[in-house]
Amino acid sequence: MTISGPTRSDAVAAAHGRFDSGQLFEELAARVQRRTVSTDPSLAEETEEYFRADLGPAVQAMGFTWNRFDNPASSTHPFFVAERIEEDAAFTVLMYGHADVQPPQTGQWRDGLDPWTLTVDGDRWYGRGSADNKAQHTINLAALDEVIRLSGGTLGYSVKLLVESGEEAGSPGLSQFCADHREELAADVFLASDGPRMSAETPTVFLGSRGTTLIRLEVDERDRAHHSGNWGGVLSNAGTILAHALASLVDARGRILVDALRPTGIDDAVRRATSTLRVGSDPGDPALTEGWGEPGLSPAERLFAWNTLEILDFLCGDPHQPVGAIPGSAHADLQFRCVVGSTDAEAVVPAIRAHLQAAGLDRVKVVDRGGMTATRLSPEDPWAQLALASLEETTGKAPALVPNLAGTIPNGAFADVLGLPTVWVPHSYPGCAQHAPNEHVLASLTREAMGIMAGLLWDLRSHRP
Ligand SMILES: [Zn+2]
Repeated sequence: MTISGPTRSDAVAAAHGRFDSGQLFEELAARVQRRTVSTDPSLAEETEEYFRADLGPAVQAMGFTWNRFDNPASSTHPFFVAERIEEDAAFTVLMYGHADVQPPQTGQWRDGLDPWTLTVDGDRWYGRGSADNKAQHTINLAALDEVIRLSGGTLGYSVKLLVESGEEAGSPGLSQFCADHREELAADVFLASDGPRMSAETPTVFLGSRGTTLIRLEVDERDRAHHSGNWGGVLSNAGTILAHALASLVDARGRILVDALRPTGIDDAVRRATSTLRVGSDPGDPALTEGWGEPGLSPAERLFAWNTLEILDFLCGDPHQPVGAIPGSAHADLQFRCVVGSTDAEAVVPAIRAHLQAAGLDRVKVVDRGGMTATRLSPEDPWAQLALASLEETTGKAPALVPNLAGTIPNGAFADVLGLPTVWVPHSYPGCAQHAPNEHVLASLTREAMGIMAGLLWDLRSHRP
């Protein structure tokens, strides 16, 4: 007779137990209390405390060693790096989270909720940074803790952890830090959690994100406005020129008119993955606009597998006090989002310049206001498939495979700089109010996520890449 050791279901049950006992709530409540607002330099000490008093002791108890590193690009956004190296490890997993949160918006929360006190109301746990990103990395570390315990201290793989503290401030220095610490951060796969699931009910895996470039168009004809009766017809109008420039880039149905900014197609694996995704199906979502965007594509293809060029704002004259004058200058802000394999980040602005020039609109100045690159692991990658099978086994539900987030995360640091296959398993949902008052996580989803992560980290034990 053989005595069998703990099983996968024991690991999932232990993770659920940590939720049911209230331990996970306590862990998260302590972390939400830290006012780690990354856009407020006066709160920089809160981040140091988050590393020193919260994360440090937690990972140390799990057998990690950890270090705090200066950020090469910012004095107030340090990095936390931990590692748990096993001698006979088959491979190394790099995990990630961000310690920082958005400003609290105190006073705007309902019923006087305090952003820094994790508060239960029905299925919701309210608190600033709960969904974005403290619950997400707290779940992952707690699940890992349970798996380490049940496996008798030997996972069969090594784990590294990188926590940044400037994600909500645009991740300053993240790519540079990864490049400078390639050795310390070397791994075989990247596994992390941020952002929302497709819907609260649907376990989700995403493999990268669309890239983004912010662009400003400027028309500067002269330094002031001139009377439209005295000068109309003989002086160029900056507003008219800007309107034509905008209309030449994107048509009245939102279709991009610049060839170099359009993907050449959608590959089969991405098409298959997007075919099961439903867009805008949660209560409170806006109704989708019929016939908007690239013709011939489904809404999921437009959102996850195509590029968009959005006009964010434009200004000439003073719209609040119209006067009969020809504006001398005008400007507009645009945001381009693109999928992997379509337009390189450096090529976006030159393509717009060339397009405007060819249209006779070279008086319009195009300013590159920065952005992030697009990333996407192939949906057929074995790591992605492993995660999907694991989520399905734990939950009994078919998980959504999102090739890339429609929005943008700093995944280029991991996918491009560190060259890792990137697998994201989000634990929040579209209604979580991240970046707004009343940010919360769902208790039911959090409990399920504990099981999901324990199952996944357990399944990695028998994986041999
Ligand atoms: Zn955020």
